[in-house]
Amino acid sequence: MALIVKKFGGSSVATPDKMRAIVQRVLKGKKPEDKIVIVVSAMGDTTDDLVALAKQITSKAYGREMDMLLTTGEQVSIALMAMAFQEAGQKAVSFTGAQAGIKTSDAFNKGRILALKPARIMKALEQDNIVVVAGFQGITGHGDITTLGRGGSDTTAVAIAGAIHADVCEIYTDVDGVYTSDPRVVPNARKIDQITYGEMLEMAKLGAGVMQPRAVEMGSRFGVPIYVRSTFSEDEGTMIQEDCSMEVKQYLIRGVASDKNVAKITVLGIPNKPGFAYRVFSELAEKNVDVDMIVQSVRYANEGVTDITFTIARTDLEEAESVFHALRTEMPVEDIIIDDKMAKVSVVGAGMAGHPGIAAGMFGVLSDNDINIEIISTSEISITCLIAEEVVDSAVKAIHQHFFDEED
Ligand code: ASP
Ligand code: MG
Repeated sequence: MALIVKKFGGSSVATPDKMRAIVQRVLKGKKPEDKIVIVVSAMGDTTDDLVALAKQITSKAYGREMDMLLTTGEQVSIALMAMAFQEAGQKAVSFTGAQAGIKTSDAFNKGRILALKPARIMKALEQDNIVVVAGFQGITGHGDITTLGRGGSDTTAVAIAGAIHADVCEIYTDVDGVYTSDPRVVPNARKIDQITYGEMLEMAKLGAGVMQPRAVEMGSRFGVPIYVRSTFSEDEGTMIQEDCSMEVKQYLIRGVASDKNVAKITVLGIPNKPGFAYRVFSELAEKNVDVDMIVQSVRYANEGVTDITFTIARTDLEEAESVFHALRTEMPVEDIIIDDKMAKVSVVGAGMAGHPGIAAGMFGVLSDNDINIEIISTSEISITCLIAEEVVDSAVKAIHQHFFDEED
């Protein structure tokens, strides 16, 4: 018997015909004793459409009501999918996030899964149902509906797979796996057969859109193998797991990622005393704004103050604005400069540790292309440069060519 979670994204369930095709595919591959949980996103662009609808009412961020609105998208999908299975003669039942036992934190729009009690899912599976669960949503301890952040259905799927000890979590999407770079930017990007959680996490965090980073993190924590593959073809996909075969590890670089959802903030002339950096970042943290690259620079001419530059997601700018306002009015800072035309380009690979040439190679390519690096940050398995958004696609292409096309 196999216990499998299969997640289908918005484009995979965009129409009733596509839903029927999923039903056929799932049933064709299912052995009688297999237990299957299906996690679905909202149909097509439904979530975007709902966001647009809300914008027609208000430009303000109504966290709770927004989640109430957005979760309806997934609820449509689960009901229709469960009906489609039943029409095909397969017992099926749909559950919202709350019904599936997904408890989240109180952070509307960005709920974190605190607990997942899969009793109801297990019972329905034992009764030979295919269980269809709404992705992207949960419920707080107070009974309020929350969402897990855009793209959150991946997280739902992996969390359920972890909670029920599934053999694998299959992520069906409109691409057929994880590529060495975004094939829309780099046409000769290659499909990766196997990748470690660590590498995938870096790729996802650094902008490879295939999977939500949180989902990869969760897969790693619970040891759930994640198999990314296409809804629309039978091709082999990419397996994300702890260990890859020896041969795969020989690669120094697994991929080149980019992220345009970046804004650079520079706080000029902040007092160079204990407590001020803390104040800036703790207030951002309170607003749930993730801070990414941070550089504090030293001013020789005027030692009393310093400048701090950091990056946040461009989509968090609105949220961060109130913090900046408070800083400007309540703290003795000279100025706060916001540049929302920045982007990150990164190379990722577990094999790069102990190979000092990688950073030089990457910087060399940027220099050859006359691209200025504003900030550099590194982890054990990645190097990231902050550069201007307008040149990021060409940077990705050139870096990919440098590391991959000279290889064979
Ligand atoms: N429907 C939600 C979104 O578009 C969740 C998801 O697709 O994973 O963000
Ligand atoms: Mg979606």
